[in-house]
Amino acid sequence: MAWFGSKLGSKAKASTHSVQSTTAVQTAPAPSVRPPVASSSNPERELRILELGSEMLDIARTHKSGMLSKQFYQDKIMDWSMKDHNFKVQMFRFVDAFPALTTPDMVHDHLVDYMTQPGVKAPPGMDLAIKAGGVAKSLAAKTISGQITGMAKNFIAGTNAADALPMLSKLWKQGISFSVDLLGEACVSSAEADAYQAKYLDLVENLVGTASGWPASDRLEKDHVGIVPRVNVSIKVTSLCALFNPIAPESSTADFMKRATPIFEAAKRNGVLINFDMEQFELKDLTLDTFMHACDTHEFEAGLAMQAYLKSGVEDAKRISEWAVRTGRVVTVRLVKGAYWDFETIHAEQEGWPCPVWHEKWQTDQCFEDMVEVFLDHCPKEPGQGGVKLALGSHNVRSIGAALAGLDKRGLPREAMELQMLHGMADQLKHAAAEMGLRVREYVPVGEMIPGMAYLVRRLLENTSNESWLKAGFLDNANTATLLADPASLAPAELKQDLVDIAAQRHRLSASDPKVGNGEPFYTEPLRDFAENDQRDAFERAVSGASVPSVANDRTVEQGVAMLDEAHAAFPAWRDFDPYLRSKVLTLTAQMMRDRRDELSGIMCKEARKAWREADADVCEAIDFCEYYARMAPSLTEPARLGKFIGELDELWYQPKGVAVVISPWNFPLAICCGMTVAALVTGNTVVVKPAEQTPGIGKAMFDMISDALRQVGAPSGVLHFCPAPGETTGAALVRDPRVNVIAFTGSKAVGLNIIEAAGVTPEEQSHVKRVVCEMGGKNAVIVDASADLDEAVLGIRYSAFGFQGQKCSACSRCIVIDPEGPNGQRMKLFLERLGESTKTLVLGAATDPNSDVSPVIDGEASGNIERFIESARSEGLTELVGAKDFPETDIDDLIAPHIFTGVSETSTIYTQEIFGPVLAVIHAKDFDEAMRMANGHAYKLTGGIFTRKPTHIDRAKREFRVGNLYINRGCTGALVGRQPFGGFGMSGVGSKAGGPDYLMQFVDPRACCENTMRRGFAPEL
Ligand SMILES: Cc1cc2nc3c(=O)[nH]c(=O)nc-3n(C[C@H](O)[C@H](O)[C@H](O)COP(=O)(O)OP(=O)(O)OC[C@H]3O[C@@H](n4cnc5c(N)ncnc54)[C@H](O)[C@@H]3O)c2cc1C
Repeated sequence: MAWFGSKLGSKAKASTHSVQSTTAVQTAPAPSVRPPVASSSNPERELRILELGSEMLDIARTHKSGMLSKQFYQDKIMDWSMKDHNFKVQMFRFVDAFPALTTPDMVHDHLVDYMTQPGVKAPPGMDLAIKAGGVAKSLAAKTISGQITGMAKNFIAGTNAADALPMLSKLWKQGISFSVDLLGEACVSSAEADAYQAKYLDLVENLVGTASGWPASDRLEKDHVGIVPRVNVSIKVTSLCALFNPIAPESSTADFMKRATPIFEAAKRNGVLINFDMEQFELKDLTLDTFMHACDTHEFEAGLAMQAYLKSGVEDAKRISEWAVRTGRVVTVRLVKGAYWDFETIHAEQEGWPCPVWHEKWQTDQCFEDMVEVFLDHCPKEPGQGGVKLALGSHNVRSIGAALAGLDKRGLPREAMELQMLHGMADQLKHAAAEMGLRVREYVPVGEMIPGMAYLVRRLLENTSNESWLKAGFLDNANTATLLADPASLAPAELKQDLVDIAAQRHRLSASDPKVGNGEPFYTEPLRDFAENDQRDAFERAVSGASVPSVANDRTVEQGVAMLDEAHAAFPAWRDFDPYLRSKVLTLTAQMMRDRRDELSGIMCKEARKAWREADADVCEAIDFCEYYARMAPSLTEPARLGKFIGELDELWYQPKGVAVVISPWNFPLAICCGMTVAALVTGNTVVVKPAEQTPGIGKAMFDMISDALRQVGAPSGVLHFCPAPGETTGAALVRDPRVNVIAFTGSKAVGLNIIEAAGVTPEEQSHVKRVVCEMGGKNAVIVDASADLDEAVLGIRYSAFGFQGQKCSACSRCIVIDPEGPNGQRMKLFLERLGESTKTLVLGAATDPNSDVSPVIDGEASGNIERFIESARSEGLTELVGAKDFPETDIDDLIAPHIFTGVSETSTIYTQEIFGPVLAVIHAKDFDEAMRMANGHAYKLTGGIFTRKPTHIDRAKREFRVGNLYINRGCTGALVGRQPFGGFGMSGVGSKAGGPDYLMQFVDPRACCENTMRRGFAPEL
C-alpha cells in the first residue's frame, strides 16, 4: 500500500483518486491564518539558496541520460492530459479502473465509456480506437493496456523485491541508495495485516543478503555521526493493523506493535532502517505517538515521514525533535510536503472541520523550510547525542537549496542530511545531487498492478498539477529565478479563507433569515473529530458520566387522552403564535443539545447501545433537524403573492393542521424523535410524543430541552406532551383519537400499515382526514459491479451492513456481486474473501467501549428474532461465510456477531425478509442487468448502493435503481439533513423526505386567497 493510493477509512467520503478535487476548492477573499514566517526574508540566506539551487539546476540540466521526467511528459497520454483538463480527468479515472478490467472487451468498453463523457475529446489515434469494432477492439484494448502498463513501469520498480533487485543494484552502482516500499491494497483485515507483516519480514531478512555483496560506499553509508544502514524499508502503519483508528488509540497501537515488533527485531539483527510513512491527517497524531512508543520500547534504526503541508507542521517538528533530544534517541525524519492534499481539503470540507493543510502552495513550501530549520536545530552534532537526522523528500530545488543553506549556516557537513526522491522522477536531479556530494536515496515502490494503479494515478496527478515544481522545471521550463523564488515572496495580500468558515454561504442548503438562528443558511453540525485528543477525552468522560433519565413507560390510555385534550385546547394559541418565535424554540433547543452533546451521546450509548460515533451522529442529526426546519418554517405561513395582476391580489400560504402525534423508534432515539417533533411544532401544531419503549430516557431529555425552549419564548402551555407508554395500548389509542390531525411515525412496516389503516377510519365526530407521515423499513441492496474498487466496496458494505449492528432502516442487507464468470468466479471469490476476513476483524463489545465495532442489539426480543433468521439461513442450506464461530466468545447479553451468508437465492428467507440485525445476504448476478433487476425486486424502496467505475452504469443506476436514497461508490447509510434528504417509497413509507425541502409541507394545509383590489375601476397599483 502506498501513501498515494492507500484507501482511506470507511468514513472517508472522498477517494484519494479524486481527480477533480482541485477544481472543487473555491477561493474566498478574507484573510486567514498565516504560516509561521521563517528566516526566508534574509537576503544573505536568499543569495546562498540561489547559489546552491543554481548549481544543482545547472548540473541537472547538463545530464542527458535518465531524463525520465522529460520522457514522461513526452508520453502521448500525458501530453494530451496536460492540454485538455476534461480528457485528463476521464483518462486518470480510466487508469484507476484499469486493473479491474479483466478482458479486452471490458477494457475497450470502459475506455469508450470514459472517452465519450460530455466535454471529452479523445486525442487523434485514440478516437479511432474508440470507434473500433470486432478484432480491432482487442487490438485497441491491447494498445491502451500497453501504454498504461508502460506508464506504471516508470514509477514501479517491479512486482516484488526480487523483481526489483537488479534495479536496486544498478542504482547502487550509480551512487544512489534506496528505500523499498510495498505497494498494496488497503489493509481491511487482520489476515491482510498478517500478510503484509510476512512481506515486510521477507524484505528485512532477505534484502540485506543480496545487498551485502555490493561494494562499500562511504558517501552512501556514513554520515557525520556514524553508519547509515544500507537497506532501508518503508512501512505503513495501516498495513500492519486493519483497525488503526484514533478513536481507540491504545488498542490500535497494541495491534500494530504485535505485528511490527518482529519486524523491528529483524531490522535490528540485520542493520536495516525502518521508516514509517505518513498517511492521512486523521492518523497523524496516532502515527507520531505509535512511532515514539515503538522507539521508546525497541532498539532499531528508525525513521519517520513528516508532512509540511499540514498547518501543524512546525509544531509536529518541534514535538518529535524535542522528544528525540530528551530521550537521547536518534531518528531520521523524512520531511515531505505531503501526498494527500486534495483528499485532506475535500474531506475536511465534507466533515465541516477546519482544513488541516495549507490552502496555498507557497505556504506548504514555506512551512517545509521552517520545519527544516527546526530539524537542523535538533540535529545530533556528535556520536551518542540524541536528535533528528534530516532526510529531505523533495524534488524541488528551491526547497533543497534552502535546506543546504541551513546546513551551511550551522556549520553542518553535507552528509548530515540525506536527499530522497521518488523512483521514476527527476533522475537528473538525483545525479546532480550525487555529484554535489549528497547522499541520495530513491524511494522504490514494488507491487502488483492493482495497488500499483492507485500509486500511478497519484504520480500522474502530482506530475501534471499546475502546482508541481517538477512540471514548472522540466516541462514549462520556467527560469531559474522563478524556480528558486522565496515562497514568502509569493504571498498574496490576502489569503484564502478556510472552506469551513464560508461553508454555510457556499452551500446555501437552506434560505437564511436574519431573524432565525445565526442569520446564516443552514449547515450540518460537524461530527466529533476523534483524532483530536481533547475531543476524544471529553467524549470519554461524558460517556462514563452520563446517566440515563429514569422513565417508566406507564402512561395509561386515559393519561394519553388527557394530553390530547390539552394539546387540542392549546392549538389555536400556538397556531397564531409568532412563527419566528416558534423557529426560535428550535434554535434554542439546538443550542441546548450542542451544550450537552457528549452527555446526550453518553445517554444513547447506555440506553440504545449505540457506539460512540453512532451516538455522536445521532445528536448531530437532531441538532440539524432543529436548525434546518427552523429556517424552512417561517416562509410557509407568510402569504406568497402569485403573479402581479393589477386589481387582483392572489396569495398562497400554509396553516398548521392541528394536533400531531409522534411515534418514534429506538434506533435513532434522539434524531428521529426530535425531527418529527420539531417539524410538527415549528409549523404550529401541538404535539403528543410517544418515544420508543426501549429508549424513553433520551426521549425525556429531548422533551425537557424543547419544553425549556418553549418556556423561554413564552409559548402557551399544553403545546408539547411526553407520553412514554406501551404502543399496543396507549400508542394505539393516541393515533385513533378523532382529534388527532397528523401522525408522524417511524418504525416497522407492520405497525406503520396498521396506523395508516386506523387513520383511514373517520368516525362521525371527526371533522378532518388524518395525515400520516410514515417511514417504514428497508431491505436495501448494494451492487458490486465488475469494475468496482474492492477496497472501497469492502469497507463501505461492511460498515453499511454492520454499523450499529445493522439496526438502521438504511442498512445494507443484500449484497449483489456481479461476476460474469459465475458464482465461483475469481471476482466473486476475491470479494467474498476480503469482505469475510475484513468482517472477522471487527471487535465485539459494549457500546460504551470505543474499541467496539459491534455491540449488543437493542434487547432480548430483537436478538431472539435475529437468531431465528440466522437459523432459517442455516436450515435453508446457505453457506455461513462469517458467523459467531469467527469471534471470541463474550458474556455480553444480546450480542450477535456479524453474519454473512452466501449461496443465497432470491427466495431465501434472509434475502426477502427485513431482519434489523447484523445479517448480510450475498447473492451473485451474472451481469449488470440481472443485478439491477434483483436490486429493484423488493417492495421496500428505501436506500440502495452501487460500487462501480463504469460511467454508463452510474447513469443507469441513477435512472433505473428505484430507491428513495441511492448511494454511488460509498456506503448506503448516514444521510445528512439538507444534503441527502432521507426517505423511501414503496413499502418503505409514505411522505416526503426528512431533512428535505418539502418535509414540513406534510404538517400544514395550504390556503389561497384572491382579493379583488379594484374599486370602481381603480386599483392602487396602476
Ligand atoms: C522519498 C519520498 C517519500 C515520500 N513519502 C511520503 C509519505 O510518507 N507521505 C506523504 O504524504 N508523502 C510522501 N511523499 C510524497 C510527497 O509528499 C510528494 O512527492 C511531494 O509533496 C512532492 O513535493 P516536491 O517538493 O517534490 O514538489 P513540489 O512541486 O514543490 O510540491 C508539491 C506538493 O505541494 C503541496 N501542494 C500542492 N498544491 C498545494 C496548494 N494549493 N496548497 C498547499 N500545498 C499544496 C502538495 O503537498 C504537493 O504534493 C514522499 C516523497 C518522496 C520524494
